[in-house]
Amino acid sequence: MAKSASFESRKARAFKELAACLGEENVSENPAVRSSYRWSWGFVAVAPYGKGPELVVMPRTVEHVQEIVRLANKEKLTVLPICAGSLTPSFEADILIDMMKMDRIIKIDPESSYVVLEPGVTYNRLIPLLRKEGYTIAIGSFPPTFSPVGNLAVQQGFNHNFSGRVSNQTLGLEIVMLDGSLLRTGTASMGSDYWSPQAGGVPDIRGLFATSLQATPLMGIVTKAAIRIWPLMEASGLPIGGFDTFAKAVKFSKTVTQSCLGDQSMVWNWVLTAMTESHIKGSKDHIDLLTHRMTADYTEPYKGLYYCYAWTQFRGYKEQVDCNLKLCERIAKEIGGKILGNEELGNTIPNCWKSWKRDYKDFDPLAEKREKHMWSYMGGERPGGGSAYFNGSTDDLIKLEDAFNRTLRDKYNQNPQPYYVRMFEGGTGAHLRYMLPVDAMDEYHRKRVTKMREEMSSWVNDNFPNIHVAGGYKRGGYKKVETHSIGMGSALNRIRDALDPNHVGFLPGEKRLEPDEEGKAVTAG
Ligand SMILES: Cc1cc2nc3c(=O)[nH]c(=O)nc-3n(C[C@H](O)[C@H](O)[C@H](O)COP(=O)(O)OP(=O)(O)OC[C@H]3O[C@@H](n4cnc5c(N)ncnc54)[C@H](O)[C@@H]3O)c2cc1C
Repeated sequence: MAKSASFESRKARAFKELAACLGEENVSENPAVRSSYRWSWGFVAVAPYGKGPELVVMPRTVEHVQEIVRLANKEKLTVLPICAGSLTPSFEADILIDMMKMDRIIKIDPESSYVVLEPGVTYNRLIPLLRKEGYTIAIGSFPPTFSPVGNLAVQQGFNHNFSGRVSNQTLGLEIVMLDGSLLRTGTASMGSDYWSPQAGGVPDIRGLFATSLQATPLMGIVTKAAIRIWPLMEASGLPIGGFDTFAKAVKFSKTVTQSCLGDQSMVWNWVLTAMTESHIKGSKDHIDLLTHRMTADYTEPYKGLYYCYAWTQFRGYKEQVDCNLKLCERIAKEIGGKILGNEELGNTIPNCWKSWKRDYKDFDPLAEKREKHMWSYMGGERPGGGSAYFNGSTDDLIKLEDAFNRTLRDKYNQNPQPYYVRMFEGGTGAHLRYMLPVDAMDEYHRKRVTKMREEMSSWVNDNFPNIHVAGGYKRGGYKKVETHSIGMGSALNRIRDALDPNHVGFLPGEKRLEPDEEGKAVTAG
């Protein structure tokens, strides 16, 4: 719908005031700049190109953010903060706040095992500084140009290499509320410079500010976060097991996680393992693998690979690590698999093995991909573009795996697909993630994968009532958190109305109130 005539004048006023406050170089209405914010590359990649924001601003201080919010309220404009922008489905806000210029490392505190960061600090910058102190920080498999605050604090991402110990790595947040006031959580909310959620008598409200891919309302803008760091210790281990069934591999991962033996444990199916190997190696093997996947059943691994690989990573004293290695050999054997020797790994998946060691044993994810940003990952094919995420008990996920593979094959004629499992905190559950690759440039393919993902998610909802299908706040058939009889939708909407009465926090597709020239309220889309 067309904007009311007054929209352009309110936008122009906002532009002028923002330029005066932030500096002209940090405010843009240039179409070229705005269009670079039209599309998320990340795992909501099946989202199409949108129209982009009206204005782009890059604050450098908390006061700048407060001023932006104040102006947004005054002019009734919507705001949308982003860090790396990789998970944002829609950028069609009036004012897009790119947080990456707020990039101060406020403190590195090895004594209390945490850092305090602004959103613009990247893993690339932080990890070398932590390594100097003998520490590391949780990271997923995304490019190190991403922001720890964006991933671990704003998303409260649990898909990282310390998920077997603690999923939520965030100890505290600083937030500019949507009325411009400032708030800190936990112990820091009483003005202390010790950041912990364990504050007796103080409610834990961190989750309120963890956005859920724009499905839940934006309640504030995160300007600082205190995030755990972990000591590297004197030794580390990464035993890799080969298993002929998914169930055995998952059982291995669950057993080692429940005994608190490692920082994380994962299961990779043969497709993901082979794809990773051939992507790193390149060459004709890539074509051989594609040919195999086009003709083989999901039960027929490529070139002598195991059906699934399961491994766990741990740090510790040397004796502790030696003991854990022996324990893993015993557990794998008892379950009916084996821990693979260096020779076998070197002969079958040398490149994939090297990348696992770099990321999970040496905790040095920057060793080879320091310069890489997300555009360089796996060419034009977005590997996780059609990702389907399922959280649940390991027993349920074991049942789901075979049923899912069969349905993909029988209903969609889909070739064997990559997937992995990651264990949560002490084995309290796990996450099974199918990564249906999407050709980003092919509209037909994008639509096909989107449809398949949605249908498969509904099918899981119908057939596995205790498995949580990610994206369930607004999406997911009848199981929408927003509208479910015991869902939290109405509570969140009421909290939003209290915290953001003008609804300046951008929600995709929402109609909002804009006063016209006479001050009378009109709706606009
Ligand atoms: C190759 C690849 C691999 C990946 N692997 C993983 C993985 O292993 N584990 C994993 O967890 N993820 C993974 N991802 C997914 C995702 O890209 C990351 O989780 C990423 O860190 C998300 O952070 P972001 O800064 O890009 O989020 P953004 O897209 O910037 O933000 C996401 C949401 O948070 C809001 N937001 C952003 N900043 C703020 C703020 N300061 N205050 C309030 N709200 C804010 C946005 O408005 C949006 O709604 C991967 C992505 C890629 C491309």
